[in-house]
Amino acid sequence: MVDQEKIREAARLLLEGIGEDVTREGLAETPDRIARMYEELFSGMGTDAGEPLSRVFSVENNEMVMEKDIVFYSMCEHHLMPFYGKAHIAYVPDGRVAGLSKLARTVEVYARRLQIQERMTGQIADDVMKYLAPQGVMVVLEAEHMCMTMRGVKKPGSRTVSVAVRGVFEKDAVLQEQFFAMLRLQG
Ligand code: ZN
Repeated sequence: MVDQEKIREAARLLLEGIGEDVTREGLAETPDRIARMYEELFSGMGTDAGEPLSRVFSVENNEMVMEKDIVFYSMCEHHLMPFYGKAHIAYVPDGRVAGLSKLARTVEVYARRLQIQERMTGQIADDVMKYLAPQGVMVVLEAEHMCMTMRGVKKPGSRTVSVAVRGVFEKDAVLQEQFFAMLRLQG
């Protein structure tokens, strides 16, 4: 649970720090808006991201399962600026799977807290291993970081890609290739 009063106070100081007049009409409600918005943006703090994955069901067929194009929005912990993009998750089951919406829910929980993309990628992979106990999992995140593109360090629209592999994906180049082949499929 965020401390809304502290956020309001910080927002006022931030505005003063950049030389703004915090009493002018357009800014009067801004600290309060930010406090309420942060409540939502950081709602993933203290939430167990693996909990949705703990409801599993059995399968006979252990073919690779992929959920791709899971849209997420997160906040970079180095600059408090958004980074956003898509997560792609594939795993090779070992007798049990989770509902596909549960993978999206796990991504959401990890996105709604201060993050760095590489850590988030690993956290998602680790949770899938922990709760579904598959033969292996591969997670790819591709995201635009406003702290880079808005400042012109990189070209606008450039994306950062991060990968986490666990289990059978770690040493199996054919499986990894299959992942990227499925990623390229339309629809
Ligand atoms: Zn950043």
